Amino acid sequence: MSTGRMRAVRMTQWGDPPALTEVARPIPRADEVLIRVEAAGVCRSDLHVLEARPGILPYRTPFTLGHEVAGRVAERGPGATGPAVGERVAVYGPWGCGRCSRCAAGAENYCDRRKELDAVRTGTGAGLGRDGGMADFLLVPSGRLLVPVGDLPAAQAAPLSDAGLTAYHAVSGIRPTLPVEGGASVAVIGVGGLGHLAVQILRATTSARVLAVDVREEALALADACGAHFGTLLRPDSAEVLRRRAGGGVGVDAVLDFVGSHSSLELAVGALRSGGELAVVGSGGGELTVRKSGALPPGVRISLPFWGTRPELEEVVALAREGAVRVETEEFALSSAPEAIDRLRSGHARGRTVLVPD
Ligand code: NAD
Ligand code: ZN
Ligand code: ZN
Repeated sequence: MSTGRMRAVRMTQWGDPPALTEVARPIPRADEVLIRVEAAGVCRSDLHVLEARPGILPYRTPFTLGHEVAGRVAERGPGATGPAVGERVAVYGPWGCGRCSRCAAGAENYCDRRKELDAVRTGTGAGLGRDGGMADFLLVPSGRLLVPVGDLPAAQAAPLSDAGLTAYHAVSGIRPTLPVEGGASVAVIGVGGLGHLAVQILRATTSARVLAVDVREEALALADACGAHFGTLLRPDSAEVLRRRAGGGVGVDAVLDFVGSHSSLELAVGALRSGGELAVVGSGGGELTVRKSGALPPGVRISLPFWGTRPELEEVVALAREGAVRVETEEFALSSAPEAIDRLRSGHARGRTVLVPD
């Protein structure tokens, strides 16, 4: 078990396509744990990484892609804690210092030493500067980063560790701000991997009216299947449509923007009610000007949620095990990873694209 080779989908050089290659199978030392990968999700962030110009991201190439991973504990280092060999787990992907107060609280996504870690180029976590899970095996630095998933199918469990967790964290951020009286409304912009789970999480954990926006009819059909009350294609008058559908024409209480482009942010600002809440999750490169008495509605609060906490991963896994959240997946063999990545890029993926061993 400790020796040999394995397949891995590698980011080789900035700007190059992903490469399916053979690398040495890692050996877990000290606290490390080796996971036999059963599923790895493909995220739009992987495309942002693959398409980044040199020097933009603080990562050193090459590294293996894949930050959304589930599998079985294959081997533990001599000092490892947490799940035993043979247990099935989801991997908590944002790997922090493990020692600051944020990490101690399970919020490694907001590790206080992130900049320091970036400076020594250790990467943000699995598949983001450090070797990730688009491979036969994944080496995890510590058992603290593993969340048991029981008998949840791996293709369900893997997307929960990023698409599910990030959507859950974003919903957790806006939930306390929603009005209790009068029927709250939340707009979800972009119903892809993250967005279709956000719709379900909103339905499972709030009583808000969920209004979905996308540029594709298929995504709106998925939003409908996930429980959205209303869906609309992005059009010049979409802000007006959302304000009307929110009830009373005053605007939506919150927007979850899973695109983050110029057009989606413009729509978000146009649709929001005064005192509303905007969570920008997508990394689409759009910008907003924050200025008092500017274009933003008065009282608006803006957040930039990044991934989620380990306790939140446990919560979203529990929701999935209860059947309250179900990931819509398109599965590809690991050896077809380049084609799977191209399909997401072409805009034809439905729900989450997931790589499984072949
Ligand atoms: P995805 O491609 O699966 O979904 C994006 C959806 O948005 C698609 O359905 C697409 O049709 C739709 N869309 C595109 N442009 C649109 C527009 N202008 N208006 C409305 N809809 C539009 O992507 P994903 O994997 O769900 O990721 C979504 C975004 O979130 C990406 O930018 C990704 O990098 C980012 N992300 C952020 C975090 C975080 O922690 N903040 C975590 C994961 C992903
Ligand atoms: Zn991601
Ligand atoms: Zn830390």
